[in-house]
Amino acid sequence: MAKTSLELLVSLQDLDLMIEEADEVKKLGFSVTGSTELIKAREELAKSISRPLLSRYEQLRAKIKRAVVPVKDDICLGCFLRQPTSRGVRGREDEQIFTCENCGRMLYWLE
Ligand SMILES: [Zn+2]
Repeated sequence: MAKTSLELLVSLQDLDLMIEEADEVKKLGFSVTGSTELIKAREELAKSISRPLLSRYEQLRAKIKRAVVPVKDDICLGCFLRQPTSRGVRGREDEQIFTCENCGRMLYWLE
């Protein structure tokens, strides 16, 4: 099954967070194996994400460490604000990407 653009974005964020962690470790003077592979994988993945979505993500990431967050029980796990239930139905089914009106993070719905 093809991944939705949002799923790709979540994977991209996972990689970004891992790359950042690797950088933190490096700053402490330790050597990190596999960080080149991480960056390569990140580049590959970024290619399969549409430009507008990617730039939206990058802009958000400049401000917020975790730009894409899950919604659970209609609660945004970025800021813990309740989301309208109607959004949840569409958020699961649509390719449309919703952002939290409170914190501005991009949202995805957990089953
Ligand atoms: Zn929020």
